[in-house]
Amino acid sequence: MKHIPEHLQTLVGQAVKRIDTPALVIDLDAMDRNIERMARFAQQHGVLWRPHAKLHKSAHIAHLLEHAGACGHCVQKVSEAEALAQGGITNIFISNEVIAQTKLARVAALAKALNAQGGRLALAVDCEEGITRLARALQDAQAGDAAMDVLVEINVGQNRCGAEPGEAALALAQAIAAQPVLRFAGLQAYHGGAQHLRGAEERKTAIEQVLKLVNRTRHEFDRAGLAIPLITGAGTGTMVNEAASGIYGEIQPGSFLFMDADYATNQRDAAQPLFEHALYVKTQVMSLSSDYAVCDAGHKAHAIDSGLPRLHALAPENALRFANGGDEHGVLHPDADAGNHSGWLPALGETLWLIPGHCDPTVNLHDHLIGVRGGRLKGVVERIFTVDGRGALT
Ligand code: PLP
Ligand code: MN
Repeated sequence: MKHIPEHLQTLVGQAVKRIDTPALVIDLDAMDRNIERMARFAQQHGVLWRPHAKLHKSAHIAHLLEHAGACGHCVQKVSEAEALAQGGITNIFISNEVIAQTKLARVAALAKALNAQGGRLALAVDCEEGITRLARALQDAQAGDAAMDVLVEINVGQNRCGAEPGEAALALAQAIAAQPVLRFAGLQAYHGGAQHLRGAEERKTAIEQVLKLVNRTRHEFDRAGLAIPLITGAGTGTMVNEAASGIYGEIQPGSFLFMDADYATNQRDAAQPLFEHALYVKTQVMSLSSDYAVCDAGHKAHAIDSGLPRLHALAPENALRFANGGDEHGVLHPDADAGNHSGWLPALGETLWLIPGHCDPTVNLHDHLIGVRGGRLKGVVERIFTVDGRGALT
């Protein structure tokens, strides 16, 4: 795990107001409630949950999730898998394709290491070449029979990665089964584009389409007499639909843990647990003019691909709107639409809390997450988490 510098380590046990800004802060009480609600949801629906660690990139948080019942973790990159494994996580699914032979050599080495610990590594593939390359890497590493689990990713509507559903997917599964070093472990059917459709009905309809494609694929497998051990997929936005399908054995949500501002604008499904915002950028007013205030968090402190951050918990008469001030600044304007008719502005030095538009890339901008207990106003710093997979892009 990464190093925690002295000035952060000494924050543990101190009041929240001692945290210098800008800083990424986890409300641990809210995060724990999110974890609890997810665990209960998965149990009630009889599905496994394998949270996506692309969100938090922290081995310690991964352990907390597994302690609460998560069956393992998803990652998107080989280097993220290595970072989690370094921190003691042993059941990892790289829910993505890997083609470079240099990276596949690292995949093979990691698979061997995890197998030796009684763990398991899995990878998604969407073409024959990906399968032969992976098999070659495992053979070169003398990883042994059935050294890795391989899932065929099918394109269920996002038009990103994924083989065609149906016969093409079956052919890939057969190619996997023909390689002694590999084990065919199932199908990955994830529709990223459906997660942020705003209406609950829209998302339901999108996943109904996904299910048709999955069912078409299952039918081909049935005809060929090849069993599908697992169907996995789903994110925070659509998981109620996949979980209720009776077809998915595992769901992969990540963002439920922190809940970004963008997700909060989704209309909530009736069956969706109430996930709370748990990740904030703590920021401070550093300059003041007569009609706006400037805070010290710009887009080096939070990602803006899904919109600018929202200010949290200001009374309507004190509402502010965040405007982009560049890399290191945010410009706060009185928000008359939200009830601030007097032009109220916070004082110089005042603390404000931002809810990032998109938490995944926001976390990747920071080396540490500061976990606080007892609320952001009166709470105390409980723990510093290292973002072990920060910048792990390969
Ligand atoms: N599974 C895969 C393959 C993903 O790419 C993602 C996120 O992009 C997720 C699961 C998790 O989705 P979310 O963070 O929206 O819950
Ligand atoms: Mn995301």
